[in-house]
Amino acid sequence: MAETATSMMIGDIRVRAVVDLDPYEMDVNFIFPDAKAEEVDAHRSWLEPTWLTGNKIRLVVQTMVLEVDGRNILVDACVGEHKERPTRPFFNKREGTDYIGQLAKLGLRPEDIDVVFCTHLHVDHVGWNTKLENGKWVPTFPKARYLFGRKELDFWMGQPNRAEVGGGSLVDSVIPIVEAKACDLVDDGHDLAKGLSLCLLPGHTPGQLGLDVARGNDRAFFVGDAIHSPLQVVYPDLSTGFDTDKQQARETRRKFLEACASDNRWLVPCHFRGALAHKIKRAGGSYMIG
Ligand SMILES: [Zn+2]
Repeated sequence: MAETATSMMIGDIRVRAVVDLDPYEMDVNFIFPDAKAEEVDAHRSWLEPTWLTGNKIRLVVQTMVLEVDGRNILVDACVGEHKERPTRPFFNKREGTDYIGQLAKLGLRPEDIDVVFCTHLHVDHVGWNTKLENGKWVPTFPKARYLFGRKELDFWMGQPNRAEVGGGSLVDSVIPIVEAKACDLVDDGHDLAKGLSLCLLPGHTPGQLGLDVARGNDRAFFVGDAIHSPLQVVYPDLSTGFDTDKQQARETRRKFLEACASDNRWLVPCHFRGALAHKIKRAGGSYMIG
């Protein structure tokens, strides 16, 4: 397996990143309301500057592009352009991003994308699902099947005020895909391809789905937002303020960290800056990046 910051192989699957927003910074206590300053300081030396600066956690918002058996699969669709997000300045009315340009540099046009898989339906994972065309939100990837978790979609569609979900992302980036009949609902255990199975990772959202990959001698776990920062590798019990069920999120996190540590599996989170994947080692009752 070869690995660079933005490209790696998992068995015969090529994985490359398209970055929509970097860095995406948040106050430590905004993203991790339970984090203690001394716990953060104890790991400052290796977290800085890539994943921490001063009082800010540093994330990236990116899509993983998988080339699998001749098909192009996008995992997560980031923030997008022209979306009105008045309460989220980083995401509001963006334009002139190089997202589609970066795809082109990988040799891919929007019509070359076969599958768009959204691990969950948060605002920074669905944005590029749609683009604005003549005042209407239409699928950005015209030939793709979009895969949404059935449980995840049900949860967000069942909210009393759909317009408020994600500051508008359900309405402009998810519902238009459903209405265009471009989406397939998937469940825990669904196979995207040989050796690529979806698995439920509840806690961050009720229906988040990860991707368990076993190809050749390589294994990897795409875990979406079940972990946001390497700080949570050393403190797996640290949940974010956005997790719908913090205790369930802790249990899920410990489960996949242990799985990665026990069989040398790559951990592939959405929001870690730098390398796309990491090996995990046990360290006391916790873990470290190894
Ligand atoms: Zn999320």
